Amino acid sequence: MEGNGWYSVISKELSPTGTVSIFIQDDIKNEQGGVKMALERVSTILKDADEHKYGVAAFNIFNYEMIAWAIQVAEDERVPIVIQFYPGWDKYMPISTAAVVTKDLASKVKVPIGLHLDHSNSFELAMSGVKYGYPSIMIDGSTLDYESNAKLTREVVKAAHAVGVEVEAELGHVGSGANLDDFKNSDHFTDPDQAVSFIEETGADSLAISIGNGHGQYVATPNLDFERLDVINKRVAVPLVLHGGSDIPDEQMQKAMQLGINKFNIATEFNRAFYNSVREVMKESETPAGYMFECFRKSEKAVKDFLRYKIRMLNPGGYHI
Ligand SMILES: [Zn+2]
Repeated sequence: MEGNGWYSVISKELSPTGTVSIFIQDDIKNEQGGVKMALERVSTILKDADEHKYGVAAFNIFNYEMIAWAIQVAEDERVPIVIQFYPGWDKYMPISTAAVVTKDLASKVKVPIGLHLDHSNSFELAMSGVKYGYPSIMIDGSTLDYESNAKLTREVVKAAHAVGVEVEAELGHVGSGANLDDFKNSDHFTDPDQAVSFIEETGADSLAISIGNGHGQYVATPNLDFERLDVINKRVAVPLVLHGGSDIPDEQMQKAMQLGINKFNIATEFNRAFYNSVREVMKESETPAGYMFECFRKSEKAVKDFLRYKIRMLNPGGYHI
């Protein structure tokens, strides 16, 4: 083993002399001198968050800028985050590409970054996440009846665990913020008794719950059911996840964190922050020559400010690694 990042390893398979020299740049070196693993397990990040009383921001991304900016802010703040991809956007950016870009950028920072495939609603889609290298995937059978959801989740968990991939499941249905009934009617909320049996039956690693949250833009301010959250958290050992984390008032987000939500999915608000920032830059532009590179560069600060705000808001104790 030599200095300056060069390592000699013994490998008869790779070299006739049995020695191969590998250069490992300082910024991707781990404490043992080997290559830093690009990604941290989502379960490890959520456990750290639970111990240190912060909520993990899970940002939904669909292009290079969103991935890069989120990872840079996490590194600046020294607070772990999860980068996640919604497979419904795969016609815009392939599932595989989102994983590759995230892994490459995560390998260049020291802060733990998780990677997760959001909302897979079939066994095949969930397995595509496994195939393309997501260490964490979601199986969403929440539109099915309890038995069918449990069966689908159990099958995905069995296959994913066989190759070391973690699984988030959903019980109770998180609907749309555009439909008042979806997030106001407690018939859609997660039943605590069912949550206990669901985790026992499926072996899922984390659970997305419905407690008055909804996806997309809300038509009215949500009022999370904290009593229900508290009961579920006390009875279910796995980390809990809140979908539809955009536009929920800060106090409710923080209280949800204190009562046991470990991961907060933020998609709509991130998307909007990016859109608004680009729009402002375009409005202000004195040279509408269409230089997109400059537009994105000028948009960066406002989007990063938004991401920083969310990370800090979910981390009132100011923890960092
Ligand atoms: Zn969701």
